Amino acid sequence: MRIRSQIILSMVSAAALIGLVGGVAIFTQKAATNSLGLTEATNVARELADTIVFKSSDGSPSLLERPDALREFLELQHHRSLRDFLVVDRNKVLLAHAADEEHTIGEKFDHDPNNEVGQTLADGVPRKFSDAHEANEILAVPIQNAEGAIAGAVLLEYDPLLRAAEQRTNDMLWLVGLSAAAAMLVATAFAWLLLNRFGAGLSDMMRGMQSLAKGDAMTRIDHTRKDEFGQLAHGFNMMADQLASAKAHTEDIVETAAEGIAVLDADGRVASVNPAAAAMIGRRADKIVGQDWASVMTMRDPRGGEFAGGASPVEQALTTGRQHQSEVRLAKSDGSHVPVIASCSPLSRSDGGLVLTLSDISELRRAEGVVNERADQLAVLNRELHEKSETTTRLVKLGELLQACVTFPEAFSVVGTAMAEFLGGLSGTVHLTSASRNLVEEMAHWGDIRSSVGQFAPEDCWALRRGQEHVAGPGMLTPRCAHITENGKKGYVCMPLAAQGETLGILHLCEPNAAERPQWLAERQQILRGVVDTLALALANLRLRETLRQQSIRDPNTGLFNRRYLEETSSRELRRMERSAQPLTILMLDVDHFKQFNDTFGHEAGDLVLKQVAATLIEHARDSDVVSRYGGEEFAIVMPGCSLEEGAERAEALRQAIRQLHLTHRGRTLGTVTVSFGVAAYPEHGAGWAEITNAADHALYEAKGEGRDRVVVAKSGAPGERPAIQLVSAAKASVDIKG
Ligand code: GH3
Ligand code: MG
Ligand code: MG
Repeated sequence: MRIRSQIILSMVSAAALIGLVGGVAIFTQKAATNSLGLTEATNVARELADTIVFKSSDGSPSLLERPDALREFLELQHHRSLRDFLVVDRNKVLLAHAADEEHTIGEKFDHDPNNEVGQTLADGVPRKFSDAHEANEILAVPIQNAEGAIAGAVLLEYDPLLRAAEQRTNDMLWLVGLSAAAAMLVATAFAWLLLNRFGAGLSDMMRGMQSLAKGDAMTRIDHTRKDEFGQLAHGFNMMADQLASAKAHTEDIVETAAEGIAVLDADGRVASVNPAAAAMIGRRADKIVGQDWASVMTMRDPRGGEFAGGASPVEQALTTGRQHQSEVRLAKSDGSHVPVIASCSPLSRSDGGLVLTLSDISELRRAEGVVNERADQLAVLNRELHEKSETTTRLVKLGELLQACVTFPEAFSVVGTAMAEFLGGLSGTVHLTSASRNLVEEMAHWGDIRSSVGQFAPEDCWALRRGQEHVAGPGMLTPRCAHITENGKKGYVCMPLAAQGETLGILHLCEPNAAERPQWLAERQQILRGVVDTLALALANLRLRETLRQQSIRDPNTGLFNRRYLEETSSRELRRMERSAQPLTILMLDVDHFKQFNDTFGHEAGDLVLKQVAATLIEHARDSDVVSRYGGEEFAIVMPGCSLEEGAERAEALRQAIRQLHLTHRGRTLGTVTVSFGVAAYPEHGAGWAEITNAADHALYEAKGEGRDRVVVAKSGAPGERPAIQLVSAAKASVDIKG
């Protein structure tokens, strides 16, 4: 119920209550008046009865006993009180009356319809009744003498009294009624005034509230009075100010937000959008608002495909009423896609709806793309590094293996095995330039194709000529090397093996499918360079080591092995012969009177003699023989597998060959060179190297002693016993010295 109605109802209720109270008061007053009228009439009647029955002390009769006096008395009372009086005896017979109407004295009173007078005469109780002939009220009161006996009754018309009382009551009723009416009027006037003021205030408040509820935060209540409504209006206006400020703030945030914000109602229609959302959707805001969301924005899954029915975050949030967030792509009308995070937060309002927030993550995705690209590049780099590191490791291993090789054959065996794997199955060769530098020889080969001849002149290879890598193949204008065979015509490379300032040879590689694989060389360039450098360095080292070794085991003047090498090798050879039960012979020889060559022709000529003797020894030696310069002009030859006898024969052959030498130095003939031999052998002269050499040395000494230019076989068995072949040649030990 509205307050206005409540006030009116309260006022009416109050007025009704006043009326009711007045009514009750009037009714009570009326009853009291009746009661008072009856009491007063009774008292008057009793006084009359008492007066009528009164007997004075002087014994004079009472008025009852004097009818005329009684009548006068009654007349007098009637004039005084203007009411009718009747007196009946105890038989109800009228004795006297003072009334306006006619009553007959001596007749029985019969105006009481129920014999009320008779009853009062019988029981002495006053009664009232309505006159059966007149329209008035009558009261019957008994007349009792001093003894209490009922002598008659006084009948009194008590209407006038009652009317007077009623008149007074009615006057009061009017007064109360008028007062109540006045009170109601005043109350109504007050209510009207109150309602006017209250209603105006309430209306202002209502208008303000409704306007605010409709979203008009600028609404204010113009209420200048200093009552409670004025205070309420002031409070309301302050609240509206704050609300307007907060709203403006919120609107600023929403309008300037980088995130797209759209409000959808429960049916999925767009209620509002901010500029960022409109830009992301690619339409003007006023073309979006009021439309179904799906008709103004095309939402696709993160890969640009269509969402299965009801799977988009907006649909899910609208269906479930719960928050949903996922990455989506917004397709614009120009066909471009914007990756966004779509976040749907249902509104808690009873009519549903949701707030859709769109965060553009293009930059993030772009940055991710860059990061991924970098990661890919890093992965490629990493792979390359890994490959490089693997290549380096393998190169280091190859280098180590090559360094561990003591001889060239060992090194080339390593190269032959390792290269096929290193160079991805390509066939190839390593050629080395000979010491004389006029021949390039194949040292190692791998793979199925042999694309170069085994031996060629250095000028047949462009790489060796120019000292740099030479590539030739299909579609290339570069000339082909002359050492290339038919196999290599499809595509090949020759790379000089250069180290320590010296070109040692070439590495040659062949790619038969060069036309189909133009990158065949480029993709191996790096490893190839590493292989070539490693190989060149290893070969240079090996060559250096070989040179050093040769220097350490050879005599530089004659080129023969030195004594140290001889002793090392011979001990080993002796053990070998022992194991295989074969003989071994040692020849010790010394140039006769060599000092005289020096003295006569000079030291240089002496050296020449030594060289020629050494050359003769080498010339007659077998591969297995170890020919050495034992010291000074003394030589030793170890002949593994050669018996003592055969050794002695070979010594003799050597002696004669040396004797045949015709040596000249600076135009001068040096004369005949003779040599003395001592021969000893295993097993005849012992099992140890020292024993056998000792024996040979002794035999040589003997040969010298016996005249030189001869072969003496060491003694064996009992001392003094000559061996079977003691002296193969008996030439005269002499040196012809020609001046
Ligand atoms: P014999 O027949 O007894 O062996 O007499 P010989 O003169 O050959 O022996 P001797 O030991 O008296 O002299 C050896 C000489 O050889 C002494 C030394 O100067 C010389 N000689 C040693 N080594 C060389 C060398 O490398 N070159 C030259 N030219 N002379 C050398
Ligand atoms: Mg000598
Ligand atoms: Mg000597």
